[in-house]
Amino acid sequence: MPVGTLGTVKGLFPDQLRAVGTQKLLANTYHLALRPGAEVVEELGGLHRFMDWDGPILTDSGGFQVFSLAGLRDIDDERVVFKSHIDGSILELTPARAIEIQQQLGADCIMCLDECPPADAPIEQIAEAVRRTTLWAQLCRDTQARDDQALFGIVQGGIDQSQREKSADKLVPLDFPGYAIGGLSVGESPTEMYRTLDHTTPHLPSEKPRYLMGVGRPEDLVESVLRGIDLFDCVMPTRNGRNATAFTSTGRVKMRNRKHMRDDAPLDPACECPACTRYCRGYLRHMFIAGEMLGPILLSLHNIAFYHRTMSDLRVAILEGRADSFRSECLAAWESE
Ligand SMILES: [Zn+2]
Repeated sequence: MPVGTLGTVKGLFPDQLRAVGTQKLLANTYHLALRPGAEVVEELGGLHRFMDWDGPILTDSGGFQVFSLAGLRDIDDERVVFKSHIDGSILELTPARAIEIQQQLGADCIMCLDECPPADAPIEQIAEAVRRTTLWAQLCRDTQARDDQALFGIVQGGIDQSQREKSADKLVPLDFPGYAIGGLSVGESPTEMYRTLDHTTPHLPSEKPRYLMGVGRPEDLVESVLRGIDLFDCVMPTRNGRNATAFTSTGRVKMRNRKHMRDDAPLDPACECPACTRYCRGYLRHMFIAGEMLGPILLSLHNIAFYHRTMSDLRVAILEGRADSFRSECLAAWESE
């Protein structure tokens, strides 16, 4: 899922996303609840109409941003009290309120409120976050009133094997239609993340979607799919695209690099996106050097196309029983640029 934090994947029209293979978008509950407000979005017809995207949308609960972005003031089993990153006002979020906001926004997949501790948190804090996340998952389930939204439970537990297993084993009896794995890509190493997935996914039902939140690099997606993950969101394709870094079939390309100045070749000959079929590397570099807005737009679109193509090729490789060789080929090719 490309990330449309404020109800837009920055710089891109929905039909452009669809044309490069986007099936589903993520929007950010915390940001939309602060601005323009969930009530406003609801009044204007709900998130799909508001942002002109008629495909599936997933919203997170806002919990992650409360812990990462807002100034966390206080947390207990009832609520989390925080300071808005926009105007400093004091706000509170309860499990019930997180669900109510997501019902007002009207996404197709919604998330339970969870507590996401940092990667270096002591084990006592990790265990407390698992306990509270489990408690809140039940409260979220009890609050949900709409039957047209799939509510996902979120597994926490840091990189601790027993806490991950405990979190998953407590959530599965609540019979959510899908399960998210939160609290990764928060500062741990890739090896620690992969090991944690190895411990976690076997505890989640294989017939239900598993969603790894906020991950990641193309190699992380391939490694995680092979460990049983189905769904991802990450700002990397768009944020890196805006910052002049392209992901290609031969690795990362720094578009501002002087070596591209007179290069008439496409960014990625294997890609069919507008950036690669209509422009050469020299033009793309020129857009960034000159500060033209088309540069970030084209590279965002290209990077999203690259991520979708990688996942699409991986699906085929899995069906044909050659997922492991696909992984090896990708990892080798992405190191070559
Ligand atoms: Zn492209």
